[in-house]
Amino acid sequence: MTTELKTLNTLLVANRGEIALRILRACRTLGIEAVVAYSEADRESLPAMLADEAICIGPADARRSYLSAPAIISAALVTGCDAIHPGYGFLSEDDAFADAVRAHGLTFIGPPADVLDKFASKAEVRRLLAEHGLPTVPGSGLLADEEQALAEAALIGYPVLLKPSAGGGGKGMRMVRSPRELAAVLPICRSEARAAFGDDSLYLEKWLEDNRHVEVQVAVDKYGHGVHLWERDCSIQRRHQKILEESPSPAMSAAGRKELAERAIKAVVAAGYENVGTLEFLVDGEGNAYFIEINCRIQVEHPITEMLTGIDLVATQIRIAAGEPLGFTQEDVPQRGHAIEFRINAEDPAHDFRPGAGTIERFNAPGGPGVRFDSHAYVGYDVPPYYDSLLGKLIVWAPTREGAIARGHAALSELLVEGVTTNIAIHRALLRSEPFLSGKFTTNLLDRIGSAAFLAAAERPG
Ligand code: ADP
Repeated sequence: MTTELKTLNTLLVANRGEIALRILRACRTLGIEAVVAYSEADRESLPAMLADEAICIGPADARRSYLSAPAIISAALVTGCDAIHPGYGFLSEDDAFADAVRAHGLTFIGPPADVLDKFASKAEVRRLLAEHGLPTVPGSGLLADEEQALAEAALIGYPVLLKPSAGGGGKGMRMVRSPRELAAVLPICRSEARAAFGDDSLYLEKWLEDNRHVEVQVAVDKYGHGVHLWERDCSIQRRHQKILEESPSPAMSAAGRKELAERAIKAVVAAGYENVGTLEFLVDGEGNAYFIEINCRIQVEHPITEMLTGIDLVATQIRIAAGEPLGFTQEDVPQRGHAIEFRINAEDPAHDFRPGAGTIERFNAPGGPGVRFDSHAYVGYDVPPYYDSLLGKLIVWAPTREGAIARGHAALSELLVEGVTTNIAIHRALLRSEPFLSGKFTTNLLDRIGSAAFLAAAERPG
């Protein structure tokens, strides 16, 4: 699995930040040259500096750079690339982009356009995977109008969650407790979804009060051979956005996790999925898992799976897109030890987690056994205000959960970022909190008491 990939010579990295660097690293191990596409705001970024070649694709405004298919495809053609890796976010799950890449004779690193199209609508995918045996949260199809929404909600039972079908990143969802509230928020949600995702279709799900977020990583080659790479628990969230992930899930039994992972891989292979992907589930207090959505790309939290399985997921993704068979079987995918990922964001916990920008004045990346730090940060780096606030990911591994927590403490105490405000304090507080230590927490842990109150409580002595 460490052999060079002969079918691709040069790949364009059409993303930024830590994931651009991660893709660059995969290219190096595969013997592929990497060209990094950057916006004017990222000229001095680490991936642009470390790339074999770097090319400017437009201004800071992502719509005219990282989201511009013509800018990206022409950059790939001008620099002689034969593939484009979109990373996550931006154009990574855009079927029209994948199709345009293919039409220009280039390889899109991800599922083919028709697969992306088939798995694009969250409401549709719920139906599709339910047909292939996955239990879903009780819910509706796409909502045509208010009348239908009210009828569907009455069937499901309040509270319900109104969700954008093209949504992502925890954005645009609204919990609704009554018919009156539903009628009031429906038009607001529609216009928010249109503005955020360019698509105003909505659907309903039953609101599950105390749930955990558990997801299964899969990889399927072009020949229908698929494996799962076990699960990740992403229940530590702030406003429906993940901030800490771990694997294995402390909430699942060995039998439960095996059954979930096996059902997930069976269903996606049968439904025609291809390349790496992640099936997300909500797990209730009794251990019942309900499918909520699939992500057709590499996930931010993929490194914890790499630590447990020893499999390079980005290299796997590139190999599959290049047409190689998977080259390993389910028996070759261990789940060894325990890993935790801390998302280090440039944001200010004291001011409602407002995204921060500025120059990094002092910086130290943690190290030592079982510690990995994926980050594009360096001393002197100007964190631009235009993009996602993710500054890096600290990943720790140990044979046991307790060991991983101990390494987490040690690594967080070595991590030094000065010049921009970060959320490191919240990770320190989490590692000392009773719910996290006991493994008994649900996705609303931080929001229930408020992240600021959680931090203040952790800082009080005793
Ligand atoms: P997105 O694609 O925007 O990230 P998801 O459907 O993956 O949205 O949900 C994100 C998070 O929102 C979940 O991890 C969970 O915390 C919460 N959530 C989603 N669906 C439900 C539900 N039916 N009931 C309660 N919480 C939910």
